[in-house]
Amino acid sequence: MSILAQRLARPEIVALEPFDIAAQANGSFTPDAIKLDANENPFPPLSEGPLAAGLNRYPEPQPERLTRAMSALYGVEPANVVVTRGADDAIDMLVRAFCRPGQDAVAIPKPTFSAYSHFARVQGARIVHVPLSENFGFDADAYLEVLKGEPNLKLAFICSPNNPTGNEVDPALVLRVADALPNTIIVLDEAYLEFSETASLAANASSRDNLVVLRTLSKAFGLAGARIGCAIGNPDLIGLAARALPPYPLPSLSIEAAMAALAPSRRPIHEQRIARIKADRERLVPLLEQSAIVKSVRSGGGNFLFLEVHDPAALAAKLRGLGIRVRFRPYAAPGGVRLTIGTEQENAAALAAFGVPGSDEKVRRAEIVRETRETKIAVALDLERAEPRIIATGIPFYDHMLDQVAAHAGFSLVLSCDGDLDIDGHHSIEDCAIAVGTALGRALGDKRGIGRFGFALPMDETEAQVLIDLSGRPFSRFEGEFETSHIGEYPTEMTPHVFRSLADGLGAAVHVRVQGENDHHKTEACFKAFGRALRQAVRREGDALPSTKGML
Ligand SMILES: *Cc1c(COP(=O)(O)O)cnc(C)c1O
Repeated sequence: MSILAQRLARPEIVALEPFDIAAQANGSFTPDAIKLDANENPFPPLSEGPLAAGLNRYPEPQPERLTRAMSALYGVEPANVVVTRGADDAIDMLVRAFCRPGQDAVAIPKPTFSAYSHFARVQGARIVHVPLSENFGFDADAYLEVLKGEPNLKLAFICSPNNPTGNEVDPALVLRVADALPNTIIVLDEAYLEFSETASLAANASSRDNLVVLRTLSKAFGLAGARIGCAIGNPDLIGLAARALPPYPLPSLSIEAAMAALAPSRRPIHEQRIARIKADRERLVPLLEQSAIVKSVRSGGGNFLFLEVHDPAALAAKLRGLGIRVRFRPYAAPGGVRLTIGTEQENAAALAAFGVPGSDEKVRRAEIVRETRETKIAVALDLERAEPRIIATGIPFYDHMLDQVAAHAGFSLVLSCDGDLDIDGHHSIEDCAIAVGTALGRALGDKRGIGRFGFALPMDETEAQVLIDLSGRPFSRFEGEFETSHIGEYPTEMTPHVFRSLADGLGAAVHVRVQGENDHHKTEACFKAFGRALRQAVRREGDALPSTKGML
């Protein structure tokens, strides 16, 4: 048992027996054991579908699969993680476990996230506010100076990137504070770390006895409604803190939502979304600086900007009229406004509200998740951007082929497939084609302003021709023969299937004809020509529907 955590924890918490539900639930029972132990109702809820299944049962307090997934995500061991209902709940847990009402103190920078002082007040802990420096920077010397000689200082919060100002704190400064306050637990809140360039201190938290790192799936994984976050620290410390949690802290539905979000096949799309938010954050800075009502714009490591405006009351009235919600943060700065980065349309609406002309770029993007027992696939496709192209089907030659399609068609494609390659490539190849076709169809939307096209392409001795009609009526014809059975791991017989699956998913007529001698050339030429034909077909030319029927 960590001496420090034992010494700092409230005596009531140290004396508390941990709930032993976890041990029972994880013990030697298999999932199909007969459960007559917990006074549950044997009948599942009267609704249908996967979400309702199992809701008559109490959830595991700390499901091993979730602690495993989150510890892998944050680069620590499962024993270093206690999963909580959001990072908020972890803050509450720590304050309740370590702070005796009326006796113990917590240090909280100012301005920062308001939940620290909220939970400290609820617990009756004394709050020592430590002002940030002029530009909201973290000054370790000043922080330590204020806290010098503070009796019973149990917790010291540091938020990096800081909410609402976005400032990032150099990890070396956090460690210096931890070294200088050996009788205090430093709580480093990394809720926004994914949006920053700062390194995490999760691994350090696991190996020393007075540092806890908070993480959450709310921000980076878009899971705020599920309420899943965690505290990371040495096992003794977080084990003690977890005694302050209720017996079944995590709703089953949230556990499932978190597991689904953390599926490896979805990781590239989450990374892509984060990259977009970061790029938009930087794109918005100079635009907002043009606004007559904006005094200053501060970017940082979060998924938000911190503005200072001249007349917050007038802005509030205007935004209310437009139905746009932002956070006013007068405690941080007199005209302080925290503006979250949203979708293209939301950002454009916000810019317009600030009197800045945004671009009226069309958005033609689709994100698709397709999961069966054979394959788990996630696709993000953006017809208005050429980059990035990140394709991982599990079959390198096929990655190369789909990359050719996206590159020659001129769109961004992020695709990840976790498939049953131990059987063979068939399911992965076919399902990826269906998913790409479906994503293309969705991104095209009502197909306003697009055409019907074809392309012929020579490649050494080979000639390939692809005709596409985005008609809404799937049809596929493939004329061509292959001599060899495989190119790498890729079976050549799959190529006609791929174009049929693309045609089905996309709702298009696709005619492919190929002749030549070399199977590699022939295959590649088909995919390239398909990409080139698509490039023409998906290009927007005005606003007319390319059909006399008025719909496609
Ligand atoms: C949003 C936020 C949290 C809370 O996140 P949840 O996991 O949703 O509770 C924690 N810390 C900071 C700084 C935040 O902005």
